[in-house]
Amino acid sequence: MKTITIAKGDGIGPEIMEATLRVLSATGAKISYEEIEIGEKSYLNGHSSGIPQEAWNTIRLNKVLLKAPITTPQGGGYKSLNVTMRKALGLYANIRPCSSLYPFIFTKHPKMDVVIVRENEEDLYAGIEHQQTQDVVQCLKLMSRPGCEKIIRYAFEYARHFQRRKVTCFSKDNIMKQTDGLFHQIFKEVSKEYQDIESEHFIVDIGAALLADKPEIFDVIVMPNLYGDILSDIAAQLTGSVGLAGSANIGESCAMFEAIHGSAPSLAGKNQANPSGLLMGALQMLNYIGENQAAELIHNAWLFTLEKGIHTPDIFHQDTSKQMVGTKELADAIIQHLGENPNRFPRKSYGNNKPFKLPQLKENVQAHKELWGVDVFVDDKAKIPQEVAQRLQAMELPDLSLQMITNRGVMVWPNGFEETFCTNHWRCRFLPRSRKKVEKEDILILLQNALINNVDVIKTENLYAFDGKPAFSLGQGQ
Ligand code: NAD
Repeated sequence: MKTITIAKGDGIGPEIMEATLRVLSATGAKISYEEIEIGEKSYLNGHSSGIPQEAWNTIRLNKVLLKAPITTPQGGGYKSLNVTMRKALGLYANIRPCSSLYPFIFTKHPKMDVVIVRENEEDLYAGIEHQQTQDVVQCLKLMSRPGCEKIIRYAFEYARHFQRRKVTCFSKDNIMKQTDGLFHQIFKEVSKEYQDIESEHFIVDIGAALLADKPEIFDVIVMPNLYGDILSDIAAQLTGSVGLAGSANIGESCAMFEAIHGSAPSLAGKNQANPSGLLMGALQMLNYIGENQAAELIHNAWLFTLEKGIHTPDIFHQDTSKQMVGTKELADAIIQHLGENPNRFPRKSYGNNKPFKLPQLKENVQAHKELWGVDVFVDDKAKIPQEVAQRLQAMELPDLSLQMITNRGVMVWPNGFEETFCTNHWRCRFLPRSRKKVEKEDILILLQNALINNVDVIKTENLYAFDGKPAFSLGQGQ
C-alpha cells in the first residue's frame, strides 16, 4: 500500500479532488491518503508561501503529492506556493501532455498530440526581484548548465520511453544570448546523444505561432520555465479546454501531480468544473507509483465516457456533445464505465510502463575564469547621459576607465541618439585601458571613489570571460 499526500486546494480544488479520489478508489488501486492543509488558509495564517511546517514534513515523508489548484492571494508578501514547492523539492521537470480528442471534443486542431516539457526551477521564476530606483524594477533570469541539461535530457528520455519521434526546443536566444543561448547550446549538445530522435529548434515567438496554428507538426517540446508555463495553457486550451490537461512535476526523489489550470474561483462550489485535468495528473501519478493497471482502467473509461458525449460545460459543444454534466456526474460516469474501452480512440495500455531515471549528470570540465571589468549600475536623475558620464569619470582609476553607459540596455554614451528615452537607471561599464584582467581590489577602490563622489551605486555586476571568451552582453547599439 503506497501512501500519498493529498492537498484539496482552493476554489474548485475540493470538488475536482473529491471527484478524482472517488474514481481512484473505484479502481481498487492500493493507495492510502494523508491530507495536508496548504494554500489560501495557510497564507492567511501567516505562512508566506502557504505551506506550514507539518505539511512539508508529510510531503517529504510520503514523497508523492496529488495537489488540487491553490489560490495565490493578491498583493506583496506572498510567494507562489506552486513555485516554492517545485523548487524546494527539486521537481525540475514539468510534463504536460495535451492531445485533441476530436471528433468527440470540439477543437480547431483535430490532430494535435503534443507533450510540453517545461523547465520548472529556473528562469524568471527564481523570484529574485528588486526595485532599484524610484522608476525601475528588475527581475533576475537565472539559468544553469545542470538545470538546462537535466530538463533537456529528460525531454529526450521521455521521447524515447514513450516512442515519440521528435523533440523541439523553443528559446529566445536571438535576444537573450547568455541565458536562452545556454539552453539552446545544451539542446544542441544533448540532441547529438539521441540520434534515434529527430531534433529541431524554433525561436519561441514563431514556435508559439506555429503551435497555435499547426500543433500537429509538434511532438515533444522542451522549453524554459516561463515559455512552458504560458504555452502549455495555450496548448491545453487548443485541445478544447484548459480543464482537460494534467501535469507531472518530477524530481530525483519526490514528485507532485496536479491539473495545469488554477483554482478558477468563479466556478467554485457550482459543480461545473471539469475534473479531467486533475484526473489526468492522477493518472500520471498512478504510472509513477507502478499502479499501471489502475491508470489504464481510468484512461480507457475516461475516453469511453467522452466518446459517449458526456461532457462538462467547458467542453460542451452542440456538434460533439450529447449530455451536459457537472463535476460529480462526470466522475460517476467514469466510474460506471471502468472496464470499458474506447471505440474510436486507440485503447491506452500502460502494461510495461516503468518510471525512468535520468543518467547521472557529467561533471563539467573546469573553465578558466577571468575578471575583465565591471558594470556599475547607478541611480542618477540626470537627463543627459553626458552629465552621468562626467560624474562617473571622476571615479575612474588610472587603468580602469568608463567605457560605455547604457540606459535600459541601449548605449547612450559615448555614442547614442537624442531620441532614446532615459530613466534614472544607468549601467556604466568600466574596463581597463592597457591590460585585459582586473583585480577585485580595483572594483573596491572604484566603489570607494563612487562614495567620495556622491554617486548612488545600486549594484555591480562583474564582467567575466570563460576560457578567454567574454561572457557578458554588449550594449544595444555598441
Ligand atoms: P484558472 O486556470 O484558475 O482559470 C481561468 C479560467 O479557465 C476559469 O475562469 C475557467 O473559465 C477556466 N477553467 C479553469 N479550470 C477549469 C476547469 N477545471 N473546468 C472548467 N473550466 C476551467 O486561472 P486564473 O483565473 O488566472 O487563476 C485563478 C487562481 O489560480 C489564481 O489565484 C492563480 O494564482 C491560481 N493558479 C493556481 C495554479 C496551481 O495551483 N497550479 C495554477 C494557475 C493559477
